[in-house]
Amino acid sequence: MNSANASADTQRLVNLLDFDRKGLQAFFAEIGEKAFRADQVLKWIYQEGVTDFAQMTNLSKSLRNYLENHCEIKLPSFAAEQLASDGTCKWAVRMHCGNQVETVYIPEERRATLCVSSQVGCALACRFCSTAQQGFNRNLSTGEIIGQLVLAQQRLGSERKITNVVMMGMGEPLLNFDNVVKAMNLMMEDFAFGLSKRRVTISTSGVTPAMHRLSEVCDVSMAVSLHAPTDELRNQLVPINQKYPLADLMAACREYAKNGPRKHITFEYVMLDGVNDSAPQAKLLVKLLSTVPSKVNLIPFNPFPQTAYRCSPMETILKFRDVLQSAGIVTTIRKTRGEDIDAACGQLVGQVQDKSRRHLKLQVQTAPANV
Ligand code: SAH
Repeated sequence: MNSANASADTQRLVNLLDFDRKGLQAFFAEIGEKAFRADQVLKWIYQEGVTDFAQMTNLSKSLRNYLENHCEIKLPSFAAEQLASDGTCKWAVRMHCGNQVETVYIPEERRATLCVSSQVGCALACRFCSTAQQGFNRNLSTGEIIGQLVLAQQRLGSERKITNVVMMGMGEPLLNFDNVVKAMNLMMEDFAFGLSKRRVTISTSGVTPAMHRLSEVCDVSMAVSLHAPTDELRNQLVPINQKYPLADLMAACREYAKNGPRKHITFEYVMLDGVNDSAPQAKLLVKLLSTVPSKVNLIPFNPFPQTAYRCSPMETILKFRDVLQSAGIVTTIRKTRGEDIDAACGQLVGQVQDKSRRHLKLQVQTAPANV
């Protein structure tokens, strides 16, 4: 071990939750320890739930001492918990800076999904999303992302195992690339959570350069928030489309699907009454998706205060689905969960000290996109 390091008093403690396996191996190499120490420590933290170095009994005494003086396992904390009538549970998770993000647990018959946040707020300004109205503060660290999973699993106990993770909470995960990739590595890591790559899904509004990069470094399932079949409408609803238009997005999806674990992309499409839900728009969507192996998930719009959008009537949603289905596209309608506690898609607001000042600008914007 390298005792020439600065003393603990003058040095910031290293949070071991910020490392994936490769990072932890590099860290141990730096302090003159063998790589297998990384696996031992990962198991203690993520499989045994041990955060006290003194209890990591298969490490040498001197290593435990070193870790105690130089490292920490620093989890975020719960600020609030709300349980919905359907079993969905929403937590406000407090980060050390005082900001809060939201994490949602969604139990189903055969799986239990955790919806995880990647940023404090969101820097994008999707018109129908309440997180967007909160503005943006900062990226979450790897420890703060994986910490949501650790906390939730601790809270739920060993009888209710989280089987799936979706990066569909607050934030645009691909704009926090490195930290999100490391956290997803830990979700899939055998020495940590050991989830299969089919059970970890990243959702993006379509940051195409990052989609290309992701396919090179990390193999998870991909969902794309599409919401419109034409550039004209998508430019309004999902403004990042102005930078990465549909032709680029579809090309990135084709490439990702070739190597991804599921061989298809899931497209999320929020149903907005009179905005994107007509039969001709469904036909345009069929055409757009004809070159990408696709599944479509129609999301009934979840209203939030100050929005002028309304959810399409169920009859319209069913007609829209039928157009897609009869063109051979597997289409599901997302069951809205946790509605009575505002835990549904796009309703996550956390407590964001907005640095973008967007919440001020958005307060005056009430009219829906009318195309
Ligand atoms: N920024 C990423 C991750 C967020 S995922 C992304 O855009 O994919 C959250 C999903 O819920 C996205 O598909 C988002 O477009 C959708 N959504 C946002 N607001 C919504 C609302 N009010 N009602 C229903 N779905 C919404």
